[in-house]
Amino acid sequence: MEHSILETINLTKKFGNQKAVDCVNVQLNRGDIYGFIGKNGAGKTTFLKMISGLSTPTSGTIELFGCRGKEVNQQYSRVGVLIENPGIFPELSAYENLKLKCICAGIRKKGYINEILDIVGLSHTGKKKTRKFSVGMKQRLGIAMALIGEPELLILDEPINGLDPEGIAEIRDTIVRLNHEKKQTIIISSHILEELSKIANRYGIIDQGKMVKELTKEELVSECSDKLELKLSHPEKAVPVLKDMGFCDFKLIDSETIHIFEQLDRSGKIVMELSRQAIEIKSIVVVGLGIEEYFLQLTGGVHHA
Ligand code: ATP
Repeated sequence: MEHSILETINLTKKFGNQKAVDCVNVQLNRGDIYGFIGKNGAGKTTFLKMISGLSTPTSGTIELFGCRGKEVNQQYSRVGVLIENPGIFPELSAYENLKLKCICAGIRKKGYINEILDIVGLSHTGKKKTRKFSVGMKQRLGIAMALIGEPELLILDEPINGLDPEGIAEIRDTIVRLNHEKKQTIIISSHILEELSKIANRYGIIDQGKMVKELTKEELVSECSDKLELKLSHPEKAVPVLKDMGFCDFKLIDSETIHIFEQLDRSGKIVMELSRQAIEIKSIVVVGLGIEEYFLQLTGGVHHA
């Protein structure tokens, strides 16, 4: 079984002179929940459409389940997609909508539709027409439609956009369950990093078509948690001193900075000890960013919700 599910190499899409997606490299490994984050207009939908086979790249390469070029098309039966309008018939129930999709996909397994309704938490909706569904219910039905055919990769474009906190929590829950129980690899976009901060294991942050940062969940937590920031002329000299003081969880960031992630209340002791060793300290402060502040710092601006 392939470990790499999807790889894009310098994937680019131009509309006229505008590069909506500019040389984006993403690698998805089996089992990942990849949070694809960017403000409105950053290029998320354009990127997701290209990897779904719904739009042709201007340049760059897509490798899907180890296949490139024309062979990629044969792999799309292993991919479930929810992008923009999921194509729900308003006069039909959730069951009937899914049944139609199953007929188109040639799936006749008994109990299959109920199983999918159950996964997305819509088994109670009975004969209710989908035009009477809430936004959250429609989003969950959209995910259910994407699940038909047991895809190994799910591509979900802003499935939590416009939902209330309860709806967001339900979708998050569904996604985590699909990932754990069905072992599905998922790429999910959002314009709010915080909304995905509890579920994704990897993040790509895109701004004006370009990937500005890729990081793991652990790196995100570390970037956003409080830490002691120590500025020194020669930080390497401070390393053995910190070790002698019993610090283990710290990192040399650049030629003048050390971040310390533990015992934040010992800054006074650190200053005394470094001074005693004649190591000059430029500054020592506790720094910390909220997840959204961090996102705005990377993308350099305010949200346009
Ligand atoms: P949103 O959250 O608003 O959907 P997004 O991150 O998904 O934003 P895209 O929809 O991919 O962003 O759009 C990226 C840029 O490409 C935008 O400037 C948009 O106006 C432009 N764009 C998207 N589709 C087209 C198109 N078919 N023709 C021309 N420009 C387009």
